[in-house]
Amino acid sequence: MTINRSPVSTDLDFEKDGKQVSYLRVPHSRDTSAWGALLIPITVIKNGRGPTVLLLGGNHGGEYEGPVCLMKLARELQAGDVQGRVIIMPALNLPAVVAGRRMSPIDNRDMNRVFPGRWNGTITEVIAHYVHDVILPLCDVVLDIHSGGYSLDLAPYISMHYLADKGQMERTMAALAAFQAPLALIMEEFSGEGLLDYAVERAGKVFLCAEIGGAGRLSPQALKISETGARNLLKHFQVTEGEVLTRQAQGLPDTQFMEIPHPENYHTATIGGIYESFFDLGDLITAGQPLGQIHFVEQPLWQPQPVMAQRSGTLIGTRGPGQVEIGDCVAVVAQSWPGGDWRSEVRD
Ligand SMILES: [Zn+2]
Repeated sequence: MTINRSPVSTDLDFEKDGKQVSYLRVPHSRDTSAWGALLIPITVIKNGRGPTVLLLGGNHGGEYEGPVCLMKLARELQAGDVQGRVIIMPALNLPAVVAGRRMSPIDNRDMNRVFPGRWNGTITEVIAHYVHDVILPLCDVVLDIHSGGYSLDLAPYISMHYLADKGQMERTMAALAAFQAPLALIMEEFSGEGLLDYAVERAGKVFLCAEIGGAGRLSPQALKISETGARNLLKHFQVTEGEVLTRQAQGLPDTQFMEIPHPENYHTATIGGIYESFFDLGDLITAGQPLGQIHFVEQPLWQPQPVMAQRSGTLIGTRGPGQVEIGDCVAVVAQSWPGGDWRSEVRD
């Protein structure tokens, strides 16, 4: 087994009842610390039999809702509250979280592009490998809390992929609904290989990705959506007691179910400059209309270059900072989930 070759160690006993707060110890030799290590915080709360839910934040740095929400939960949740097991890692890629950067400053790798990782790879790959080979096999459900980070501003949503297995699709959609985010997205991914998402889905488990806010901020609203959603997920799987706190009970409009089925839902800058969006998040977009335009500060008399909407729908993502380079994603449009009622719309 490759597990034994991982240099990562921990004093945690994942099978022990009770609440354990410790670290994954990842060797990290460097100029200032010959025998040093990264200590990645991990909390395991177990009580008897039941499902295991893995709650992850800080897969990328600069995405603050996950770490803050999960640190709170790790402090508050006690073994007596749990039936089953909850594993909480608020800062999966700790060096990136500490640096406030998407990528690890140690190896410049994106954690969510290196799964399943390598036991003898760079430090980001080593962490991913341990999570993939040791922690994921323990889990039934994984929630990975992201945001748009510095470069994107996203409408707060919970998301999943289209799944080929109908049973897995139904289980995941039920969990998606239970999160009670303003927006629930079923989407196709166009980011290439190496996502944690695929590793969990291939194992037949429930995987949800929250994308809550962004543009480098931590907003009270986004944080509340994360906290309520994470707790709702635990209730949905009966790992903690109580009813899911619905949006209706909070006096909020019901979750809107939407989808991102096509690469054309993503809009890319084809030239660098300053991006001016004509729309706010949540606005309705018609295919063919300009979504925004790119200005060229060195050439004030040049006409700005328009970015045209490729699909009709709702604007759910826009560029965070005004400055853009060629190839940057500047707008994401989602369409309504066909039929509205998600229960009858699970695809074959
Ligand atoms: Zn992220």
